[in-house]
Amino acid sequence: MKSPYEFPLFADMLNRLGFPPIEYISDFKIKTVDVDIRDVTYDPNGGIIFDGRKGYLYMHSYRISHYNDLPRYHITNCEIIQKSINEGWYSYYKHSNAEYVDIIDRDNKKSYYNQKLELCSKCRKELAGKKISYDLTTEDFHKSLKKEQQPAPSSEFKPLVTLEETKRQIAEEREKRIEAEQEAQQARQQATEEHEKRIKAEQEAAEVAKKLTKAEAMQEIVDLASKLDELLKSNKREGSGLKVRLRSMENSLSDKVFKDALKAIDVRNKISHEGYQPPKEQISKTKQSLETVIAELNDIFAGNYIQNLIKKYRQD
Ligand SMILES: [Zn+2]
Repeated sequence: MKSPYEFPLFADMLNRLGFPPIEYISDFKIKTVDVDIRDVTYDPNGGIIFDGRKGYLYMHSYRISHYNDLPRYHITNCEIIQKSINEGWYSYYKHSNAEYVDIIDRDNKKSYYNQKLELCSKCRKELAGKKISYDLTTEDFHKSLKKEQQPAPSSEFKPLVTLEETKRQIAEEREKRIEAEQEAQQARQQATEEHEKRIKAEQEAAEVAKKLTKAEAMQEIVDLASKLDELLKSNKREGSGLKVRLRSMENSLSDKVFKDALKAIDVRNKISHEGYQPPKEQISKTKQSLETVIAELNDIFAGNYIQNLIKKYRQD
């Protein structure tokens, strides 16, 4: 499977989003092969190319015990390589890009496995003044070879936002949103409370108005009863109490009006003496009864007055 970094556009996108570079899985294969040193080419910045692969040369068979040292590795067409070619030692070398190699002691045939080699001093001189220094071991050279094969990080595209920045922004946005939601919730609650307060106030006002209306209506009953009494008294109706005075008019009044008026006086007494609060319908009926009896009595008394006037006139 290909690494995401092998798809250039996708790799760029990942870089821009600030993803850390992931382990590069390339076609880089570690190979150590036999080579004829006349068949290699040289990278001017160091490195020996063979079979399309960049690496180094080293002697896989060496007089380790004799020199009490391991061979050096080569990455230039240095004096040693040239001497080897001149002397026909074409096949004493292997080409490798590995971190570690195996060496055999030419004298006693002893094997030294997985050895890290140091760079040849002549090669080091060849590379002096070059930007890239391979003044290091096979381990380091291997790493630099591996690194070379990875696509260079895209210098045109600097990450616009890093992953951390993105995370921070998301967290910030989330906090802002939560704050706004809390504020909205508070506002809604306040509005609800205000609304409830207003409704309660309106209900209270309505209740007060209702009580006032009722009180006014009750006061009207008391006033009408007083008016009735005054009317009776001014027409010489005597006796203790409004009912008694009204009874003196029983024969002159129509039956229904008289009975209704008595009931109305009972209601009026209960209001005045017992704090009775009659229902709405009783209030209007009582008022009506009192108004009717007052009207009828007015007619009666007016009629009497005229008759008296006539009588007086006749006597004169
Ligand atoms: Zn060398």
